[in-house]
Amino acid sequence: MRKMREGADGTARLTWDVRAPAPFESAWNILIKIQLLNAIGSEEIQRIGGVNLGEADPHRLFHSSAGWDVPYIASCLHVDSARIRTAFMEHLGFPRREGEKYAVRHCPDCSALNYHCTLFNLPLISRCPWHGKDLTQGCERCGWLPIRWRWRANADLLRWACPDCGHVIDLGGNLTVKCIPAETEEAVRTHCRQMLNWWSKVQKATGDASSLLNPLAYEARPFDYEWMWRLNWATGVCAPPAEWGVVPPTLSAGVLVRLPGEGLPQCNSRECLKAHRLVRKSIFRRFISGHAECFSELMAMGPFERISLDCSAICTLCVAFLSWRAAHERRLPSSERQADQMPSPRLRGVTLSGISSNGQYDAMLSFLNFVRIWAQIEEQSSVSAFRIIALRGESEPMLIPHVVVNGAREQVVCVIPRAADLFEIATKRCAKRRSGDVPMAHPVGWNTVIDGKVLFAARHHQPHYRNSYHHIYV
Ligand SMILES: [Zn+2]
Ligand SMILES: [Zn+2]
Ligand SMILES: [Zn+2]
Repeated sequence: MRKMREGADGTARLTWDVRAPAPFESAWNILIKIQLLNAIGSEEIQRIGGVNLGEADPHRLFHSSAGWDVPYIASCLHVDSARIRTAFMEHLGFPRREGEKYAVRHCPDCSALNYHCTLFNLPLISRCPWHGKDLTQGCERCGWLPIRWRWRANADLLRWACPDCGHVIDLGGNLTVKCIPAETEEAVRTHCRQMLNWWSKVQKATGDASSLLNPLAYEARPFDYEWMWRLNWATGVCAPPAEWGVVPPTLSAGVLVRLPGEGLPQCNSRECLKAHRLVRKSIFRRFISGHAECFSELMAMGPFERISLDCSAICTLCVAFLSWRAAHERRLPSSERQADQMPSPRLRGVTLSGISSNGQYDAMLSFLNFVRIWAQIEEQSSVSAFRIIALRGESEPMLIPHVVVNGAREQVVCVIPRAADLFEIATKRCAKRRSGDVPMAHPVGWNTVIDGKVLFAARHHQPHYRNSYHHIYV
């Protein structure tokens, strides 16, 4: 095993090429280069000090500087600490991420230069801006490489190769770190700063609720609707720099809604029913009245038609409205008159982070629930088949991205797509359907078994469309 050289003061001196690290070079890449240039494994690095692998979660080394003594490592490498700090997301203004595997995303051209950028592991981006190449999905095996690597005398010592994704780091026989060309280095700086500026603007606009954005920076499995709603909000605040290939959100923009975090005042069932009727009326006036034909068509449908809807032709607004009513009124209305004569006003409430945890009906929460159902239908119908399932509990937690903030008074802040945008999308689709005189439903096979919990079901009727059903709970 190679012996570490020691300076007069006893600190380890590591072999290093001071042209590295390049701007915004990731901690993962820096650690690999230290190991290769000095032919040392992770245990020896720990002995030298400056890097603490920890026991439970070695991958946190690449997410956060918590396990690093940055000034010490910088002094061992004879470089300025500032050049090491940009290796960590948390020093670039992003939230600290812990307990996640580090699945390394590569740009093939950067890999060829032995470069890996700190920002490549941001889940919301998809492209290397200075090379214009798509980033790979992320390789966990690469994440383990620096931790598991052991130097062996007969090893092909200056070469790393990942058996899973084929990523190679080869320093060549002369032990030099490849340098990225000066103009690329400048481009890296510019593009990274643009991304950081965008992120900081969005954070500023989100204010005390900026932790709502955290999953955009570190969630391991993004692209569920809640993740997308956060992105709708973020990209709606201001457009992200185009070259990073930020995953385009399905809906155009989002809004932040603030609710008092304290429990709701108790109201009796009569008052709740009154509140519900007001919300229902205002939704009807504001949205449904422009879709009266769609509403009549849906109201006239029998159970077989309701589960045979066509994703490309449905009125997402009216389906959402009826599902929302079924959620709170506990049954699908079959006609306006009948619903108005509801015998027992046993309205069902929803909860959000403890607000109305007693299942109390609240007008604001109920309206949010309507937009939530509508947005989910709008998003789901564009990508897959779906079923709307009625839950039977006394009150249901509403799945909307939200955080509790403690200002002068505790508040719950949530992010949700803008109803006006949903209205525009739905209205365009409905106008097209009506002008082509296309029905909303294509009932097939009358031997279908009706499941009382399924309020509506829709699928794509075009050939070659994959129809896997997603469930929307109301
Ligand atoms: Zn690249
Ligand atoms: Zn790999
Ligand atoms: Zn419509």
